[in-house]
Amino acid sequence: MALLDNLLTLHRVDSQVRALRSRVSSAETYFKAQERQLALLARQKTELETQLKQLQASVHALEVEQSTANERVDRLRADLNTSTNDRQYKAILNEMKVLEGQRDEIVKRAVEEMQRVDETKKRLETHEATIVERQKVREVAKGKFDECMKDVGDRLAELEAERARAADLVPDRERKLFDRVADETEGEAMAEITIVSLRHREFACGACNIEVPFETYARLSSNSNEAIQCKACTRILFLAEANRPADPKAAKGTKASEEDREKAALARDKAKFEKTKKL
Ligand SMILES: [Zn+2]
Repeated sequence: MALLDNLLTLHRVDSQVRALRSRVSSAETYFKAQERQLALLARQKTELETQLKQLQASVHALEVEQSTANERVDRLRADLNTSTNDRQYKAILNEMKVLEGQRDEIVKRAVEEMQRVDETKKRLETHEATIVERQKVREVAKGKFDECMKDVGDRLAELEAERARAADLVPDRERKLFDRVADETEGEAMAEITIVSLRHREFACGACNIEVPFETYARLSSNSNEAIQCKACTRILFLAEANRPADPKAAKGTKASEEDREKAALARDKAKFEKTKKL
């Protein structure tokens, strides 16, 4: 087989491999994105839980402070009842007022902190519900990815082996060229030359439409063993089968069929002859 025929075979298998790989990789990308999203949500949940614990501890501390203040106020009230003189009475009363003020402040702070506890609990609940929803999405994504791997896995392995066999038929230099162009063009490494006008010797690259010189057309129509790239898009150019030079093996095939035709013609003549002989 000529180089360009082998390159076209390689191209055909390569395109199939790429299409399958991209199916798997998009399912994988989607699944991995769900995993990342869930990991982020889990971190946020831990942060909220830590926040909640801190707030609850702070509420508890304020409650302890509050009851200590209450006890002291109660003690002072008892002292007040047993105070013996006016000066002592006023002093205790003053201390009580200060303490009550402090206690009110503690109560106010405790109420605020409790509100924050409630808010944080609600946020945590909403967050947990989001996680449950996300887990469902992740399961669906995982199912699709597994299914894709199951469907595609074997076929991909087969195609990859086929691609390796096709690549083996192409010389090293041209294979590297093909691989490079295929990567650059997302698997569209080959471009058929469009004949714009044979009479005016006008040709174009079938992929990017940029003019292809007559010389390239002439070279490819007499020789399929050359990889010529489009000067604009770098794709490897080829001619439609009808304009390609006959493959030596294919030529043999034509010869064989010519022989067959001759044989058939001879057989027909012979039959005619037999017929006439009978008459
Ligand atoms: Zn081109």
